[in-house]
Amino acid sequence: AEEALRQAQKMEAVGQLTGGIAHDFNNLLTIIIGNIDTVLRRFDSGGDPRARRSLENALKGAERAASLTQRLLAFSRRQPLDPKTVDVDRLLAGMSDLLTRSITESIAIQIVADDDLWPVEADPHQLENVILNLAVNARDAMPGGGTLTIAARNVELAEEGPDGAPPGQYIAISVTDTGIGMSADTVARVFDPFFTTKEVGKGTGLGLSMVYGFAKQSGGYIAIDSEEREGTTFTLYLGRKTDRGGDSFESPGAQGAVAG
Ligand code: ADP
Repeated sequence: AEEALRQAQKMEAVGQLTGGIAHDFNNLLTIIIGNIDTVLRRFDSGGDPRARRSLENALKGAERAASLTQRLLAFSRRQPLDPKTVDVDRLLAGMSDLLTRSITESIAIQIVADDDLWPVEADPHQLENVILNLAVNARDAMPGGGTLTIAARNVELAEEGPDGAPPGQYIAISVTDTGIGMSADTVARVFDPFFTTKEVGKGTGLGLSMVYGFAKQSGGYIAIDSEEREGTTFTLYLGRKTDRGGDSFESPGAQGAVAG
């Protein structure tokens, strides 16, 4: 519990700081990208090809910067969550193309889900983002190829579960790789903002902080199971959506009940 509190405080402090900076940068980058775009459009009808190439490079750089500030904003939770009733099975099926495109050919992708998976209440867009983040980390952990398994199952916890999850009904979404695994030291630090073992330019160290933030904000829990040279499993536990509270998915005619 103390560890969780320390983590939460650290996240809060770094989140405040980066959120403020990222917000300003995002606005500035919007101006830069907009202006380069306008000039490039003028070039469409000809002009100096070298100047054009320089502008295109500037645009690419600015867009990369914008995508980084987007990630910073997501991490600092300035992007509010928009929770809906989510059918995880359908969400995973819908991600299959995206995953194939993001994961190298030498990695086999398996997606498995329980029949009659319980619904969860979560922001579907952010949940996709979280799963993609975990999948890309899994890919990076398997430079020589391997298997990426994404599994969703119903879990009934009789006692306290991982990360202090109280007993109850959960949907567990796990992302497993057969990669390099992590040392105990690394496991202890993975959720720290800006902790990365990747080369400069490849890793920001924000992916898992964002995943952690999402789990907490969605009332969920996250577990790590990792063995060096064997592989890693990250499991996200999200509470089963019950029909208590306003927008029941079960009662017919309920307002705002959106599946998937
Ligand atoms: P980044 O991917 O930008 O480094 P993350 O917060 O997503 O940032 O991950 C932090 C670190 O955790 C990674 O640099 C890596 O050392 C470790 N890590 C995350 N996922 C895995 C994995 N599936 N296998 C091995 N190490 C991992």
